[in-house]
Amino acid sequence: MITAGPHFFTTSILPVRESLLLKGGTRTRLPLRVRVGYFHHRRLGHTLIDAGYGVRAARTDGKPDLLLSAYRKLIKPSTLSDDPLGDGLLRLGLRKSDIETVIITHFHADHISGLADLPVSRILCPKRAWGALKANSRLRNALEGVFASLLPEDFEDRLGFLEDAQVVQAPTELGNGRDIADDGSVLAVDLPGHLEGHTGICFPKLEKPFLYATDVQWLKRAVMEDRCPGFPASMIYHHRGEAMRSVEKVRRFARGGGDVVLCHDPEPHAFDLDAGIEP
Ligand SMILES: [Zn+2]
Repeated sequence: MITAGPHFFTTSILPVRESLLLKGGTRTRLPLRVRVGYFHHRRLGHTLIDAGYGVRAARTDGKPDLLLSAYRKLIKPSTLSDDPLGDGLLRLGLRKSDIETVIITHFHADHISGLADLPVSRILCPKRAWGALKANSRLRNALEGVFASLLPEDFEDRLGFLEDAQVVQAPTELGNGRDIADDGSVLAVDLPGHLEGHTGICFPKLEKPFLYATDVQWLKRAVMEDRCPGFPASMIYHHRGEAMRSVEKVRRFARGGGDVVLCHDPEPHAFDLDAGIEP
């Protein structure tokens, strides 16, 4: 059972204009974080939520991948150090070899490229997300920011699906969840629209129910003030209508007393281990 909140640390900071992330925003560049979540559960062991940007996304490792090279040129991914996962885990007194489970919320490069640096034995992901990655062409995946070449070679051997967990009721407006840890304390919640299978992770038994709403938006302000950005940010949605319904669901959860963290929001949260980090 989990009674203390998860922790988060930052693997990368990307400066992006506020006007691209918030309707009516300014031209000021905001330092978007790329967070990785951590919690410990008796059944899952030391567990990460996503693996952030790893150096493999930021620079070539000698394997030619023209589509990934184009992504690097366009997005300019970077990491805060040469070992962002190792440094983040050090703040928790852990090493990468201590991690037993990684939950992947979706397959965007900034959520999975750190996986190659982890010897973890168990990876859980949404079945729909994996199915789409396998079914799509390399070009289609690349246009959505998904690169199978960033995954470890034996990825599939270590893979299990969130949908195999029992369906339970998630708090307030979130609908059904998947009971990942079998005791109702960690639930995978569908937040469709951002990318096929996009998932949030809910901790309903904390003093204040908590939702890691992943990439439902970049800024919590955009969710709470109903100021989701239009074009060109809206181009990124896999399905705009579903994405807006997911935003609404998260907003109702927060207004009903829930606590929310997004992967990229620059505003520090009490669960951030590196709240004072500077870009
Ligand atoms: Zn994403």
